[in-house]
Amino acid sequence: MATILEKVICVTCPKGCTLEVTLEGDTIIKVENGCKRGHEYVHQELTDPRRMVASSVQVKGGLHPLLPVYTSAPFPKARIQELLSALRQVEVNTPVKMDDIVLRNALGTGIDIHASRDVKEEAITS
Ligand code: SF4
Repeated sequence: MATILEKVICVTCPKGCTLEVTLEGDTIIKVENGCKRGHEYVHQELTDPRRMVASSVQVKGGLHPLLPVYTSAPFPKARIQELLSALRQVEVNTPVKMDDIVLRNALGTGIDIHASRDVKEEAITS
């Protein structure tokens, strides 16, 4: 099987090292440059890439129509569009506190979706 040399930029810390990865098919043979965390990043990125996701959901009866939300952990990259579609169906009631869970176990991944801020109820004026 052919050996491939691939360069991967590590985004784990601001140093941004370029790691050289030797692959045979999908198998990682060796990783050069960088530190242990960088090597873990390469394995994650090449086998199960994930990203933190920030988005918003609708709010019912709030001072603001949208609530910013974030994932509790990096989310599988291949399923991010599916997650964004699911979040478009979510509507929360006020009041909302920062870090409240607005969607538990999103798409069965075990990852929760949290509120990024408080949202108070809309003031009723008469
Ligand atoms: S390899 Fe290590 S030092 Fe380099 S960017 Fe990644 S975490 Fe930072």
